[in-house]
Amino acid sequence: MPSARFIKSAVHPHEYPPDRGLEIAIAGRSNAGKSSLINLMTGSRIAKVSGTPGKTRLLNFFEMNGGKYTLVDMPGYGFAARSGDEMHDWHQMVESYLASRQVLRGLLLVMDIRREWTKDEDMLKGFTDHRGLPMAVVLTKSDKLSRNEIQKAVAALKKKSSLNHVFVVSSLKKTGHVEFEEWLYENWVKPAL
Ligand code: GDP
Repeated sequence: MPSARFIKSAVHPHEYPPDRGLEIAIAGRSNAGKSSLINLMTGSRIAKVSGTPGKTRLLNFFEMNGGKYTLVDMPGYGFAARSGDEMHDWHQMVESYLASRQVLRGLLLVMDIRREWTKDEDMLKGFTDHRGLPMAVVLTKSDKLSRNEIQKAVAALKKKSSLNHVFVVSSLKKTGHVEFEEWLYENWVKPAL
């Protein structure tokens, strides 16, 4: 049974937990379905921690599966209403984490399957490419599309992003996450244990 424990929230590098073990970061546009996916992965409502006031703008660290790895939940991006200062702060926080964290193994990008790859996603990919870190995409809300539409969305996303590892899940129907988690464990966790 998957399990998770909230460790702490942080903004600046000196507030991160010790740079030990192995970390996987998870990012996504606001409302993409990231919290629902984390809840599904942990079999709990743990991601609501990130939804409490004051914690939505922070990096939230969770110990996963009894300490096998740490999941770092990054704040959602793409709020049109956010001010220039807030955008700047988000950018700074995400960039300094992605650029400096030694134990980081890869970035999971959560996207609503109905949305296009934009320059925001390109920017995140730029950070990981810069360090030679892998990125995988989890397309959520697949229950909103037909099988044919899903295939088209996956093909279009792969083409636009130049990424190969694209997974399709529905947190509502609880489908796709087992395959995705097995892949994650085999490819990003196990080799680093
Ligand atoms: P976050 O802002 O990325 O953390 O997104 P949430 O997990 O809070 O989800 C945003 C909205 O999308 C909520 O209303 C969820 O109930 C809904 N949602 C999330 N995942 C799914 C899914 O797989 N299918 C459907 N139909 N709705 C979903």
